[in-house]
Amino acid sequence: MHPGFVEIDAMKAAILREFKVPLTLEEVDQPKPGAHDVLIQVEACGVCHSDLHVADGDSPQLVPITKRPLILGHEIAGRVIEKGASVNHLQVGDRVGIPWVHWTCGECEFCREGKENLCVKQQITGVTVDGGYAEFVKAPASHALKIPEGLSCVDAAPLFCAGVTVYRALHQAKIQPGQRLAVFGVGGLGHLAVQIGQGLGAIVTAIDISDEKLAHARRLGASATLNAGTVNVVKEVRRAGGVHAALVTSAAKAAYDTALPCVRPTGMLLVVGLPSESLCFPAIQMAAPLAQVNEALHQLRSGQVSGRLVLVPR
Ligand SMILES: [Zn+2]
Ligand SMILES: [Zn+2]
Repeated sequence: MHPGFVEIDAMKAAILREFKVPLTLEEVDQPKPGAHDVLIQVEACGVCHSDLHVADGDSPQLVPITKRPLILGHEIAGRVIEKGASVNHLQVGDRVGIPWVHWTCGECEFCREGKENLCVKQQITGVTVDGGYAEFVKAPASHALKIPEGLSCVDAAPLFCAGVTVYRALHQAKIQPGQRLAVFGVGGLGHLAVQIGQGLGAIVTAIDISDEKLAHARRLGASATLNAGTVNVVKEVRRAGGVHAALVTSAAKAAYDTALPCVRPTGMLLVVGLPSESLCFPAIQMAAPLAQVNEALHQLRSGQVSGRLVLVPR
């Protein structure tokens, strides 16, 4: 070390320099944590489908905010190895996770409503700031989440994007034990939705076009599986009364077209995948058939209806 120079350690990282060009493995400077940051030694980082969109530059929403050169990765789990002077609640040695939402202002309208995922000033891990495809990453301590003992970093990492995404959707739908849940698509999000849905006590039906993925869903606790390539999913699901919630993780428009009629009246369609095409839902399908009049009246009587239920004589 030469006098007058501050030594900065190097680290290996996968760098995005140009869209649609393979990432390059490079030696770069380790990030230096600020007063409110922690420096994390990355032990695992999930590979999310969104990373492909960031790397390919094919998302009109992400392109203008994508930092370059950039280290991708927003499903990070690792260990705190250094902390800023103002960090009190985390200690060196703690295992933490870093999600997609890297930092939020805590002051805007959405933050104050508890919807900080919509913060107008938010920073996004692996998009607006460097992420976890590297040996080390820095993050605001306020947004680093402790990983409980007994959960490995490899198992924890996907929870910080795929896991929170489906958990939040199921939480919003207020899934109760015994309710029927259909999960469309058993990929990165869907395989977690099956487990979280089952953990919440729901009766889960998994739907996919791959028998292999459906077998995986069964092993993870799905009560039933349907191969959309070979059976009439709408007919099968409706025969069982429809579902209280259909969670669609697929980006295929066809999955949404199939999912809506599977939802029983008052049920919820949870749009989690990001289809590039516009989704179109006929209003008639959002009305209750006349045969459900008593159920509709009961819901009205017991105060479960917000807005107006509409009956259609079909
Ligand atoms: Zn993601
Ligand atoms: Zn905010």
